[in-house]
Amino acid sequence: MDERGAGAQPVALPAYVIEVGDGPLDRPARDSVGGWPFLDDGQEWPACFCGEKLALLFQLDVPADLGPFGGDHLLVFHCRAHNDASEPEYAGGRLVPRYWDAPQSPYPGPFWRILLQRQATLPAAEAEPSVCALPLTLRSFADTPSPRGIGAQTFKLGGTPSWAQDPESHTCACGADLQYLCQVPEGMDFAVRPGLPEQPYSVRADTYGMFLGNEVYLMACPAHCDPAAVWPVNQN
Ligand SMILES: [Zn+2]
Ligand SMILES: [Zn+2]
Repeated sequence: MDERGAGAQPVALPAYVIEVGDGPLDRPARDSVGGWPFLDDGQEWPACFCGEKLALLFQLDVPADLGPFGGDHLLVFHCRAHNDASEPEYAGGRLVPRYWDAPQSPYPGPFWRILLQRQATLPAAEAEPSVCALPLTLRSFADTPSPRGIGAQTFKLGGTPSWAQDPESHTCACGADLQYLCQVPEGMDFAVRPGLPEQPYSVRADTYGMFLGNEVYLMACPAHCDPAAVWPVNQN
């Protein structure tokens, strides 16, 4: 057994399916695949441990009714050159301090960055160069869990995760219990511009994926102890 807690899951948040629109998106939008990231003042475009600028896979404004995350802006970045599964590092019953920067064996640091920020009002001057920019739309839906407590297996915000394995709970380094916020379905990929280097282990040459195509459940710190205090749970 590892040190992960198995505490009760918090009450499910309202649910929104995230729909990827037909592109291309030719101007900044707060809800987008690729596109122009809306970053807080002083927040640099994040980089991988390998030095590559991380690719902006998607970003969106979290609706006001999504509990402690209402009004946040969520941004999900992932390396083009590194594609692996995440592995949580625990110490003393909590994720290690600054787990968002902690080594990811065999790597000296993480190959992704997930941000929840509250002050981003302006788009970056530069658009994400690799991932094709597409609009995103959020549509409210009833994510009624199955008798086993499993929600819809789709790209969604809030609702109930469709755990591919046992439900996971994680405790932030600050002591707060991380709360599930967003699910990216297994095998989801994002179209990239022609002629770019391929991502290792990606299913197709012209798309980038995340975490080896695992289903991803983003669990975020409800105390907002750091903009990067989000753990991407991987299951398949
Ligand atoms: Zn990298
Ligand atoms: Zn925290």
